[in-house]
Amino acid sequence: MHRTTPQWQAADAAHFLHPFTDFQGLARKGARIITRAEGIYLWDSDGHRLLDAMSGLWCVNVGYGQQALVDAATRQMQQLPFYNAFFQTATPPAIELAELLAEVTPPQFQHVFFAGSGSEGNDTVVRMVRRYWDLLGQPERQVLISRRNAYHGSTMAGASLGGMSGMHAQGGLPIPGIAHIEQPYFHAHGQGLTADEFGLVAARWLEDEILAIGPGKVAAFIGEPVQGAGGVIIPPATYWPEIQRICDKYGVLLVSDEVICGFGRTGRWFGCETFGFRPDLMTFAKGVTSGYVPLGGVMVGERVARVLIERGGEFNHGYTYSGHPVACAVALANLKLIRELRLVEHVHDDVGPYLAEQYAALRGHPLVGDAETCGLMGAILLLKDPAHRRPFAEELEIGMVCRGHCFREGLVMRAVGDRMIVAPPLVITRGQIDELMALVRRCLDLTLADAQRQGWLS
Ligand SMILES: *Cc1c(COP(=O)(O)O)cnc(C)c1O
Repeated sequence: MHRTTPQWQAADAAHFLHPFTDFQGLARKGARIITRAEGIYLWDSDGHRLLDAMSGLWCVNVGYGQQALVDAATRQMQQLPFYNAFFQTATPPAIELAELLAEVTPPQFQHVFFAGSGSEGNDTVVRMVRRYWDLLGQPERQVLISRRNAYHGSTMAGASLGGMSGMHAQGGLPIPGIAHIEQPYFHAHGQGLTADEFGLVAARWLEDEILAIGPGKVAAFIGEPVQGAGGVIIPPATYWPEIQRICDKYGVLLVSDEVICGFGRTGRWFGCETFGFRPDLMTFAKGVTSGYVPLGGVMVGERVARVLIERGGEFNHGYTYSGHPVACAVALANLKLIRELRLVEHVHDDVGPYLAEQYAALRGHPLVGDAETCGLMGAILLLKDPAHRRPFAEELEIGMVCRGHCFREGLVMRAVGDRMIVAPPLVITRGQIDELMALVRRCLDLTLADAQRQGWLS
């Protein structure tokens, strides 16, 4: 059905409660209606083209319009659109995907538990690690430690694991048995230290917390290799190996939330490979299907899988759509395409280093306090006085000012506070990165011009 943009916006405001949205604010402005996409570009209902430097919501790793994924979904819907994996049944796509995931993930992973999303995957993590310690006769090991400004989803357990204060303020969160330590954000917490020194200091906050709670009560530590929604916070190289050492020392399970970092984003298949640690569990979603259909899950390392399997008894947990055949068929096609197009190598050897060079060159810009990348994730910290590391006043919402320019200029770049972040589709070419950088520079310049005109720099 064809409607004009105002007609879409009116119907949207009348009936659609959007996620993470101030409903009145949106109704006043009207939603941006996206109607089609191809490659790394989106088009809105007015026919404007946008370069989607956020891969939808960090998920469209293979880019839009990949026919192989469409064909896989069509074939599977025709043959068997749904059957469940409860009651000792299975479907070929779920089995084949489990097999392929065991192949592309690090060697300790031979088993998978499927869910419908990243949030559900992290709910599974909470249930599973507590079950693991129960089965080992240590039921007092209940506490999961996470980090402030982490994002682990929006269900009760996901939002509790996450460290977003705005989310904890609503709905009585966090649930019991979740603790948070400070994030490894060098700009905020690393004054007076080198990055490598800070990485060790930040990791030892975990040890302090384990000792404060009591090692016999800590079940697991969970973290994103690079915090995505928190603003692309890239930890120093020393951080994760030290986290690993601490988890090993106290027998605490290590969980890597790979929902964003997985499937090539950091230049290896998984973020834990880029940062050199060996998780016991890995949550995945987003890039596993490139977002074409919803799918998530948990890779279960042999340490945990053996206990769940061999100690027996029913694990009273699962979802109607655990191992959904259409979602699994699309994931299979997606992972095969990532291999065929050699996208992980493309990020690692070619466009990742190229983006890093381009970001390094932004550092002289009068608004840029930091410009850093990891694989195909990038963050620019906007400061009013980079030389003295002075921030803009919070109420100016400088990130939102910049983001406004981005949309008008045809670029989707997200603002998280004063950090402007990107995570473009892995299929992006060098030529398209040039186009992205021209837009980024133009939007920074327009933001600078606003700041000068309004007197925000003094
Ligand atoms: C998006 C995200 C989630 C939640 O995934 P959903 O599919 O939205 O439930 C969990 N963890 C991380 C790191 C994420 O980025």
